[in-house]
Amino acid sequence: MNFHDSGLIESGLIKKGFHKAASAGDADIIILNTCSVRDHADHKILSELGRLKKNGPDKKVVLAGCFAKQIKLRMESEKHKQETGLFFDYCLGPDETMSIPDILGQENSYKKENYINDDYKDFGLLEEYFYDKKPQNSVASIKIIEGCNNYCSYCIVPYVRGEERSIPFKIIYNTVKEQILKGAKEILLLGQNVNSYLSPEEKGKDFVFLLNTLSEIEGSFKIKFLTSHPKDFSENLIETVCENRKISGDIHLPVQSGSDKILAAMNRGYSRKDYLKLIENIRIGRPDVSISTDIIVGFPGETEEDFQMTVSLMEEVRFDFIFAFKYSPRPFTKAFKIVDDVSMEIKKERLETIFQKQKKITAEKVIY
Ligand code: SF4
Repeated sequence: MNFHDSGLIESGLIKKGFHKAASAGDADIIILNTCSVRDHADHKILSELGRLKKNGPDKKVVLAGCFAKQIKLRMESEKHKQETGLFFDYCLGPDETMSIPDILGQENSYKKENYINDDYKDFGLLEEYFYDKKPQNSVASIKIIEGCNNYCSYCIVPYVRGEERSIPFKIIYNTVKEQILKGAKEILLLGQNVNSYLSPEEKGKDFVFLLNTLSEIEGSFKIKFLTSHPKDFSENLIETVCENRKISGDIHLPVQSGSDKILAAMNRGYSRKDYLKLIENIRIGRPDVSISTDIIVGFPGETEEDFQMTVSLMEEVRFDFIFAFKYSPRPFTKAFKIVDDVSMEIKKERLETIFQKQKKITAEKVIY
């Protein structure tokens, strides 16, 4: 998602007459479009800001994206507006992404601390920037929905990206058509939860409608989407994925844990049984499907028994690919208030077990 947003910022800046520098050393302005999903990302940004303070005090630094929003929220929640001690000229959250070209292009006429613009209300601008994008390696990434209403207890996204806002159907349709004309062979529809897509302007234009209508556009291309929430993967969506061959068979369905106790504590809204049934139904309709997932190990309260439930779920599903992470507490979330009681040593061990298990599954899949 951040790569996508960075592309929009780049399109907007080029439109305003800026040029891309060959390296950070050559640049007058440095934009850090940041992530904040795990604490590891925060640490990387802090060290980069420290490095810039030391090596590039003459450069203008824009701190953008989710970490920027986290800093803003912290300043608000702590009810003080004093300097954070961090080195940046602008601090602009994901809701201000589309304002960056304007702020930098006309900075003298804006008061940076007062400038707030909800980019997704400004759909015209969004369409313009989308339109200017070129497919990268034949892939056109197009955001269809921003924000999330799910409030998984470990996740900072709803706080830093805000409530769900779908991009109007017409903009997406026109953009996809344009990207196919520009040579895109894969259309990657992006959002924190694409299954919740609902065009704000036209009633009933939901995610299934979007997939089916986009697939009717002439041309040889596949449609992929990221990320789907298992609880919102409806019967209609299963049917569409199974029957519409313009839709890619690569499905990413984050499970996070195989233990019902942990899934409930994570506020995921489905059980182990629901998840397994969903995978079964997709595979019945489309046996060649490739399923990937996300797993978090060491969520507070995860016992060895809970963890083994995740391992056994992996054995049952036999994923084609996994992304696995150690739990890290994120500010503002519900889980942040719970004691992080699984030691780092155990988290590391569990993560290693997960990777080894997947390695074995992948090797077996290659053999058979
Ligand atoms: S569905 Fe859950 S994990 Fe995904 S972005 Fe929303 S709150 Fe975060």
